[in-house]
Formats: sequence, C-alpha cells, structure tokens
Amino acid sequence: MGTLTELFAPDRIAVVGATAREGSIGKAVTDNLLSAYDGEIIPVNPNYEEVMGLSCVDEVGEAAADMAVIVVPPKIALPAVEQAGEAGVKNVVVITAGFGETGSDGASREEELKEIAAEYDLNLVGPNSLGIMSTPNGMNATFGPDNALPGNLSFMSQSGAFITAVLDWANDEDVGFKDVVSLGNKAVLDETDFVNHWGDDSETDVIIGYLEGISQGREFIDTAREVTQDTPIVLVKSGRTDAGAQAASSHTGTIAGSEQAYEAGLDQAGVLRAESVQELFDAAQMLANQPVPENNDVAVITNAGGPGVISTDAVGDAGLEMASFSEETLEQFDEKLPAEGNIYNPVDIVGDADVERFSNALDIALADENVGSAMVLSCPTAVLDYEQLAAETAAMREKHGKPVAACFMGGESVRASAEILSEAGIPNYFDPSRAIGALDSLWEYRQIQRRSYDAPAAFDVDRDAAREILERVEDRDDNRLGVEAMGLLEAYGIPMPDSDIVDSPEDARAVAERISGDVVMKIVSPDILHKSDIGGVKVGVSNSEVEDAYEDLITRARNYQPEANLLGVQVQEMADLDDGTETIVGMNRDPQFGPLMMFGLGGIFVEVLEDTTFRVAPVTETEAREMTTEIKTAPLLRGARGREPADIDGIIETIQRLSQLVTDFPAIMEFDINPLVATPDGVSAVDIRLTVDPEEL
Ligand code: ADP
Ligand code: MG
Repeated sequence: MGTLTELFAPDRIAVVGATAREGSIGKAVTDNLLSAYDGEIIPVNPNYEEVMGLSCVDEVGEAAADMAVIVVPPKIALPAVEQAGEAGVKNVVVITAGFGETGSDGASREEELKEIAAEYDLNLVGPNSLGIMSTPNGMNATFGPDNALPGNLSFMSQSGAFITAVLDWANDEDVGFKDVVSLGNKAVLDETDFVNHWGDDSETDVIIGYLEGISQGREFIDTAREVTQDTPIVLVKSGRTDAGAQAASSHTGTIAGSEQAYEAGLDQAGVLRAESVQELFDAAQMLANQPVPENNDVAVITNAGGPGVISTDAVGDAGLEMASFSEETLEQFDEKLPAEGNIYNPVDIVGDADVERFSNALDIALADENVGSAMVLSCPTAVLDYEQLAAETAAMREKHGKPVAACFMGGESVRASAEILSEAGIPNYFDPSRAIGALDSLWEYRQIQRRSYDAPAAFDVDRDAAREILERVEDRDDNRLGVEAMGLLEAYGIPMPDSDIVDSPEDARAVAERISGDVVMKIVSPDILHKSDIGGVKVGVSNSEVEDAYEDLITRARNYQPEANLLGVQVQEMADLDDGTETIVGMNRDPQFGPLMMFGLGGIFVEVLEDTTFRVAPVTETEAREMTTEIKTAPLLRGARGREPADIDGIIETIQRLSQLVTDFPAIMEFDINPLVATPDGVSAVDIRLTVDPEEL
C-alpha cells in the first residue's frame, strides 16, 4: 500500500460502470464528480460511446486514470479491479456491494478482492462503500445526495448512510470537511490507515469518525497514539456488540465483553469518545478552532444567576473545575463590577450589565493564571447588544489566547451574534452544559497530548517452564486449567502462597504440617469451575482436621458430579484476609483488540459487584497503575477507615506480569487470578483459572 495522498487528490478518475441511466449508482457517482471535481473524469463502459457528455472507453486500461471508482455489479467487480491493477491504477474505490456483508459467496468474493489488492498493491476503499470525497479538488466520488463544504475536519464512517445524514446536517450548520471516506467492509484500507494518513495531512485539523469495530486493535492504538500528539481524533461510540456472549467460560469471560475492549482500547489510543453525533461535532469544532487550555479551571461570566448555577453543575459533571481567582483578579473585579454582583466564580455581573461590563470582566478573568478557559453566559436584556458582545468576546479570546465558549441564550435575538462568534471559531450554545462539554473536550485533549507512553516492562521470566505447563492441556480432553497450573505464576514471578496438590489424606497432612498455621484445602478438578459453590474450599483447617477435610472434599465433589475428573486436593497456606483485600486480575482475549486485562474487586462476588476496569495488553506501568486507582473501591486499597494501605505496587506488578504472560502466549484465551489477596505486606495469588487454545501453542 502506498501513500493515500493520491487517493484523495487524483488527476484522472475512471468511473467503471458509468451510465446515464436514471436512478443508477453509476449515474449518481458521475453526476457528483461532474458537479465540482477539477480533474478529468473518464467513464468506462463498453456499452456506450459517451456518458453524460463525457467520452467513454471500453476498459479501465484505456482510461490512463490514477483512480478508479467501481460501480459495476458484484459478479464483474473482481475482473474490473484486476484490470485496474494491471493498468497500474493504484487507487480503487469499490462502491459495489454484495461482498462480505452478504453471506458465504460474498465472503469468498471479498477474499478474492483482498488477494487482487495485495497482488497489485492497491489502495482500496470498500467494498460496499458510499465512496470518498475531498473538498480541495472538489472531488465527490460518492453516490450520496450532497457535496461536503470545505473545512478542516476529515471524516470516516463505517456506515455510508450516516455520512449522508451528517453531510445534510453539516451543510445546514456550515460545518466543512477536508476528506470524507465511507469505509465500507474495510477489505483493505481501514480506520488505522486513514488515521495514519490524516495525521500527516496538514489540511486536516481534527479526525472524526463513526466506527462499529476496529480491525486491528493493537495497531490502531499504536498509530492513534502518535497521531493524537498533534491531531485530535474524536469517534462516536457505536452500539454495544454482543461478542461478550461468546463462550464465557470463566469469570473474566462473562464480564469482559467486547464493549469493554473498545472502551479501553480507544482510551489507550488517545481517542476522544463522543456519545452522540452532537457531542462529536461540538468537540470537533472546538478542537478545530480553539487553542487547548493550560489547566482545567473555568471562569464563567454571566448576567444571570440561574444559568450560572446550571453551568456550575455542568462543570462538576465534566472533568473541569470552577476557577478560584487570584487576589489581584478579585481586587480588579471589586473595582470594576457592581457591589450587588458576585466576584467569585460564576462571576455574576448582574442583569443590567452592558457589553463593556462583560468585556471588562472577561478581560480580567482571562488574564488570571488560574483560569484555563472561560464561558460567556448571557440572557438577553434591553441594555445588552448581543452582536457587540459577540465581537467583544471574540476580541478577548484572541487577545488572551485561551479557549472561550459562548452561551448566549435565546432564540431569534441570538442568530446574528452566533454568526459573529462562529466566524471567530467560538461555538454558541443555548444550553450551558453543551458549552461546558465543548470546553471539557479541549481539556481532555490537552491531557492526551501530555501523555507519555512508556514501553511495557519486560520482566525476567521462565518462558519454557510456562510453555511446558500450558502444553499439559494437549493431553486432556478439556482446555481449562485451574490451581494445578499455578506453576505459571511461579514462572512469571507472581507471588502465591505455599501450596501442594495431593491425592491422599496422609499426604495432605504432611503438607499441612510443613506449612505453618492453619491451611486452606480445595478440591482440584477441571470440571468444577467455582469450587466454593459446591463447598469445595475449606478455610482455616488445623493440622488435626486435615485428613477428615480431605475425605469430605472428595465426597462432596463426587456427589456434585460423579464423573468429574478429580486431580486431588490442594493444601494451601492461609492468606491474611483480615488485613487483606481480595482483588481480581484477569484477562480475556478480544476478537478486535487481543488480550484485554481486567482489574477489580475480587472474591466470590465479582460478578455481583462488577467493580472492574480494563486495558488492552501489553499494559505499561502507568496503565496498570491507573487500573488500581480507577475502580470504585480503590479507597479500600488505599486504606480506608484506619486500615493500613495494601501493597498497591505489588498489584501493579502483578497486572504487568500477567500482561506479559498472556502477550507471550496467544494460546491463553482467558486467565483469572481470583482472588489476588492484597495485604500491606504484599500480594498473593490464591486461586487461578485459565482457558488454553491448544491450536495456538
Ligand atoms: P473458587 O473461586 O473456585 O470458589 P477460591 O480458591 O478462590 O475458589 O476460594 C474461594 C474463597 O476462599 C476466596 O475468595 C477466599 O475468600 C477464600 N480463600 C481461598 N484460598 C484462600 C487462602 N489461601 N487464604 C485465605 N482465604 C482463601
Ligand atoms: Mg476463586
């Protein structure tokens, strides 16, 4: 695959399947190209001499084009692409549908398409795409109804229909685009390729998109991380997938569905996520037109008390804070503002405020180092000229180089001023929380820019020992492993209590005597997933009780499941649960992002509490640390209510070590350490469960 510059700026476009037949896609594409494209258009169709006044050629090879748009029926689409490849056309947009989206015939056709693209090294968009657009050269190679307005947003969408809806709306709102791509089935070019390209494109200021899935999750994360250092990416979240329902055979499997992977992956990629189309464009326009703030403190200047309170709430809901002003600022406010107002944030300059008072207050606030951004919030009054206020707001934004959002409330009386604001790159919203949301996306992006991505740690581990343990599943008719595979932890340096698996009461006693204090005894069987559910875990067994406990565990297991494969009984040192917290460190392999790490509150109630957080592996130390602070019960780990704090560094290291293990062995499909008991003195992996795919070993 070459650079995508030519894809968006071709000199000659061949429309393979062009026709003047009313209602056809071939006509729609040719029409759209004719509307504004400043290059040559060559219709390709053996049935015509000319199409819509353009002279037509029989084969794409005769077109001498540098891009081909394919609109022929699916059966002849493959030969058409092949001919384009043979003719040296590197850029191909396949609008034709009837590929992977339509069952097994279509899927094999798509496979063939990929092969052809690989053979000729094609930049291929689609198939099943609406097409692509680029405004600098007026190219609209889609069958949609509208041309995009020129602008500095580049937009990709996995849904073509969504593009037509967005353009319809954007044209009304004066929102412009550099490039637009309908990704279609992403047989060759996918979101990562476009993010990569637009990251280097000086005419693209913000990358936006609608995605339903990400083809190569890890690759996307790594590419997006680099791009977001100078080009923000905002994506709208699509519907939740149900991939989580697939073979959920352990705790992690049932909790970590694909939605978590998407959420974690996009966050790690430095992508801003929008919950709605409105949020997508609010963020995109703000990012395209305004500087990023240096801090998250917002000043709100208002002539209306009520809306001021609404914005204070909105600031609280966002990742922002109400700025506290410096002494100097407060003194100046005191001097310039009426005594009946409020000089603390939100700054209430009172209902009779005119433009000059607004302007003074904004000027003083923006000059304060404690203020990262500001919002001008006003309700219409007889003494306030909205258009002048808009001009002053724009001037102050410019003067201080800090982001400003506007919330000039009202209907018709706002229209003209909103236009003045918009020309200055200041969005105006009726709703204060939208204005705050837009400022919040700038702050979020500021934090993404400040991120530094450390490499994942590489611990000194015994990979061969781990492989040897994993290979044991090959001799079994089951691909699950439990505590009999705890040697994996040892090989990867994850602390665990002293323990042994035995198959007689006498041996159990011998192990218990070796271990100081009472012990824990557990049934060991790949057929028993949740040992405590069947009374298969006995905690606090004294040496004299060990033999009876052994018999009892075996009896319970036999009663529960007569044909269960019993591997014996584990005799284990007690972990200190009085001073410790049960946590879970897990992994589940996601179809899009690969190994997905989980951390949360552990024990036998994980599913009930669902206090968990996720990251795509391999995780860095920073990411592992974030995981330990993100869960709701994090304060428990930090030592709530007079308890000593747990060994959080030990948890962080365990997450990293497990991340290394599951990255080293793609055969590990799922892995749970539950619980990992975290005490002030260290962590200890008390129970594990994993699923292995022997084919991947
Ligand atoms: P399962 O998850 O299959 O029920 P576990 O080995 O996780 O089996 O044991 C269940 C619970 O028993 C743990 O969550 C923990 O509360 C307790 N437990 C298990 N092993 C120990 C141990 N070595 N020390 C202290 N408590 C333990
Ligand atoms: Mg357990």
